[in-house]
Amino acid sequence: VIFKNMTWTGYLFDPLTDERYPLDEPRWRSDSGGVLSLAIPGFWNPDDLGHREHSMWRYRESLPIQDEQNILTMGEGFTPLLTWNRRGKKIWIKQEHLFPTGSYKDRGAAVLISKVKELGIRQVVQDSSGNAGCAIAAYCGRAGIACDIYVPADTSPAKLMQIRSYGARMHLIPGSREDTAAAALDAARKKYYASHCWNPFFLHGTKTFAYEIWEQLGQRGPDALVLPVGNGTLLLGAYIGFTDLIQRGLIDKLPKLIGVQSGHCAPLATAFQQHATQPALIEKLPTLAEGIAIATPVRGAEILAAVRDSGGYFITVDETEILSTHRALALQGFYVELTAAAAIAGLDHYLELVVETETIVSVFTGHGLKSACEH
Ligand SMILES: *Cc1c(COP(=O)(O)O)cnc(C)c1O
Repeated sequence: VIFKNMTWTGYLFDPLTDERYPLDEPRWRSDSGGVLSLAIPGFWNPDDLGHREHSMWRYRESLPIQDEQNILTMGEGFTPLLTWNRRGKKIWIKQEHLFPTGSYKDRGAAVLISKVKELGIRQVVQDSSGNAGCAIAAYCGRAGIACDIYVPADTSPAKLMQIRSYGARMHLIPGSREDTAAAALDAARKKYYASHCWNPFFLHGTKTFAYEIWEQLGQRGPDALVLPVGNGTLLLGAYIGFTDLIQRGLIDKLPKLIGVQSGHCAPLATAFQQHATQPALIEKLPTLAEGIAIATPVRGAEILAAVRDSGGYFITVDETEILSTHRALALQGFYVELTAAAAIAGLDHYLELVVETETIVSVFTGHGLKSACEH
């Protein structure tokens, strides 16, 4: 019922130069090499939602796929929003580890790879610290699209096995996450780059995170959202989604976006503190939070602007806190990834700083089985 063909036409644009491109062009960056944004005029009607299936596709009118035949879905989305008592305060946790591939990256991959199918592209490349690779590989597998996934050689073994299981060709790249990105960019000169960082279709999947929170809180927005940030694909998706809700008159202010980074890799937290508009050049140290160990986020300037616009800020957490939070969560029955525990460690800092009456939402981003290890 909810999967219908869409007649609106959106466009891709480079916000720095205002260059515009049609949606049916297989491109992932602008002619001047910039990151692209996506404008689509459609929006779902709150009155229609009641009868729709509980997946992210209930927001069909806002999802940039024209022909319903191209939609690849495993019923993903509408993850439970858990009420939680944390540090004596009532807060909400969006359980994004409960996705088909075990992380919220399925929101972005479902939209991006559906679009890849719609564009008739038969092979893609992608790079990731693991979870985006799992999600892209899973949806490509369903669509029969060949995919090459580039990952750092030291990625958690469970994620590597998962990527291979979906039938992707995996390339283990020695060195840093940045070396992996460089290898994928090189391969992307010949094949379509289905990058969660560069590709705006990914963010128009993650934006459904905001719509769901709005519905699940009883048609209102939170005061603050505490999210882990590496490349910012969840944070920027949330920013797009809540901005849409403001434009439609469904909420009247943006939630404060509180970004959590590992102290061992904090280019955005550092830049924010220095009042800079670009990510800081940092020396990255090893961190347990592999999912957010991003020294040079492609959309760094966009993330900093979004956090400032929302009245939010950044919090950094150290390795000891990540580990102790991971343990404490497991003792409550929540088996999440170390990277997800980093966000909750950041949430605990935030809870010490804020007033009782705020509505605060945070997230479990990835499943614990992905980074299972003895510690
Ligand atoms: C991808 C990911 C993040 C952070 O996402 P970014 O897009 O890099 O900001 C956080 N936690 C987990 C488990 C992830 O997979």
